[in-house]
Amino acid sequence: MNDLTAQVRDAIQNSNNIVFFGGAGVSTESGIPDFRSADGLYNMKYKYPPETIVSHSFFIQNTSEFYRFYREKMLHPDAMPNKAHLALTELERQGKLRAVVTQNVDGLHHKAGSVKVLELHGSRSRYYCMRCGEKYPIDVVIDAEDIPLCKCGGTIRPDVVLFEESLDQSVIEESVSFISNAEVLIVGGTSLNVYPAAGLIQYYKGNMLILINKTETPFDRQAKIVIHDSIGETLTAAVFGE
Ligand code: ZN
Repeated sequence: MNDLTAQVRDAIQNSNNIVFFGGAGVSTESGIPDFRSADGLYNMKYKYPPETIVSHSFFIQNTSEFYRFYREKMLHPDAMPNKAHLALTELERQGKLRAVVTQNVDGLHHKAGSVKVLELHGSRSRYYCMRCGEKYPIDVVIDAEDIPLCKCGGTIRPDVVLFEESLDQSVIEESVSFISNAEVLIVGGTSLNVYPAAGLIQYYKGNMLILINKTETPFDRQAKIVIHDSIGETLTAAVFGE
């Protein structure tokens, strides 16, 4: 274990009020690419860029095309939690980690056994009918050949925040509460360049901000510990002492 990872291990061992904030880098280690790169720059199969397809207006106007992309590029039903998810589950089990705040929608923190997970952008594991509100599991999308429809005839949509839609205010408020009261804040797998990540980090008032990301972030200079490495490897070493 290197020096910086040992410092993270110390910080973890000395606190029972840790919050983790994670981004796409946590999921890429489970083989889930950032959706922006999902269609591949050199072999694009879709007429529209991913950001356009995964927007509210596109979903409403081109629901069938949306689901074609979604099913092929975004579902990842076989993805499994990686070392980062498992280390965080263990930290929560030990009573040290208060919450995971994530920008990811793959549901892998739940799959790993984490209990307190705040999903800022919703979850690909959950679906609901836009007409009657009936809830459905992921199978409803996997099993449907085209647009998944409710018993009532309404269109079923993913419980994720699409572009042009606003985040759930109650999830934001709870995240702010955990972050502003945290003793240790570990931020991992995010370049902290986009809303709402950068804004939420500003609420942290403690003096143990730990940043773990493969590349630099605008917050590196404000952090107590900065590690440019794999989030899974680093957390495993810090939590399990390996
Ligand atoms: Zn319905």
